[in-house]
Amino acid sequence: MNEIKKHTNHKVLIVDDEPDILKPLKEFLYLSDYHVVTALNAKEAIERLKEQNVSVVITDILMPGMDGLELTDLIRKDFKARVIVMTAYCEDYNYVDVISKGASDFIFKPIRFDELLLRLKRVLSEIQQDTTKQEMIKTLKKLAITDGLTGFYNSRHFYEQLKNEIHRTKRYKHALSLMLLDIDHFKNYNDSYGHLEGDQVLVSLCKIIKKCLRKMDTAYRYGGEEFTIILPETSRKEAVVVAERIMEKLNHSDFEPIPGVFCKITISIGITEYISEEEVTALVKRADEAMYRSKENGRNSISIL
Ligand code: GH3
Ligand code: MG
Ligand code: MG
Repeated sequence: MNEIKKHTNHKVLIVDDEPDILKPLKEFLYLSDYHVVTALNAKEAIERLKEQNVSVVITDILMPGMDGLELTDLIRKDFKARVIVMTAYCEDYNYVDVISKGASDFIFKPIRFDELLLRLKRVLSEIQQDTTKQEMIKTLKKLAITDGLTGFYNSRHFYEQLKNEIHRTKRYKHALSLMLLDIDHFKNYNDSYGHLEGDQVLVSLCKIIKKCLRKMDTAYRYGGEEFTIILPETSRKEAVVVAERIMEKLNHSDFEPIPGVFCKITISIGITEYISEEEVTALVKRADEAMYRSKENGRNSISIL
């Protein structure tokens, strides 16, 4: 058995070719509430790293076969674990060698247990800080592409995704359709019932749109009361089916801006399909023109260009 089960989240791998060092270290860390895994050489350590989620590796430097520095280098390149390197005073390695290989810390042998524990805790707190930072970056990135009111992606993300889809379309020679939706006479609704009630309509419409999309379709809040939908691998004809579904669902929805007052909302839709080698802007412009054709045709309709 080279593993002892404990309750903390973090797993520590100790690598040393001397069982006399490995054993007391393992016991000490176990008593300090860590999951502990051990390995007698670098090769074995890599096996442990492949099979288990190790947070920190504490490795000896001088070992037969691959030494601790090479192991550190490899771990930093191929795994997420942090490394603390152990070395004796007399050995021919210094702090700079170790840190430049990507180790997080360095400890001299003979190991003082209390010092090891402090260094281990510091490295673990670095991991925690790093995780928090990564999560914050992820949240900020998501915020930057999301519309706060509806939760739909915003126009910045729309253009990025449309470019990606055009790229894929060119490569795989698939069809690609684009839909643009605009609420009819929305200004009147706002003027009659107030901006907050107007906001509720936007939120509800987004929910309706979402329910009508297929897995590969993505919807965006393009502007105030305008939305775009990218429909990959979809011809104009197939896109019309999605548009009709949205129209139908919306026609069956009632809005109640004032208790007891029920209103219908309608939208004008424009649909177009990507033409080989055209610019992104040309595609969007044509979808816009198609939508305006629906407005000219009396609104509450679908036009294809
Ligand atoms: P049309 O049928 O020609 O599209 O008429 P419209 O009134 O919808 O179009 P217009 O472009 O004249 O007005 C758009 C309206 O959309 C005006 C604006 O107050 C409203 N709007 C835009 N963004 C928001 C929003 O975030 N919340 C609310 N409540 N209203 C918005
Ligand atoms: Mg409008
Ligand atoms: Mg508009």
